[in-house]
Amino acid sequence: MIEVRCIEGRWAPMVICDICNSPIDRRKPGWQHEGLALWVMDDSTESGSPLHVHKGLCDRKADTRDALMGSEELGVHLFHLFYNAGYSVKDVPHLKELSDMLQEIG
Ligand SMILES: [Zn+2]
Repeated sequence: MIEVRCIEGRWAPMVICDICNSPIDRRKPGWQHEGLALWVMDDSTESGSPLHVHKGLCDRKADTRDALMGSEELGVHLFHLFYNAGYSVKDVPHLKELSDMLQEIG
């Protein structure tokens, strides 16, 4: 899920694991901070709601009930959201400056 959380006095959108309710943040050390998007495909509605989960224990706990699933790396999934909302890199003209600023404030 995507939530806005207050971290050290700053509000920021974060990807939260739907299984353990902890942020998925690959900047933290360890494989357990890598993420996946998983979804059950419903052919009758041609849609599916994604789960955002940590790789490993959390994605194995996701209850899929042997349903037909789709999955992708979290970074690819987030890029698809960005693209499917009509954005491209040219819509963020100061991407490098924005990235540097976000890394500075953590
Ligand atoms: Zn998790």
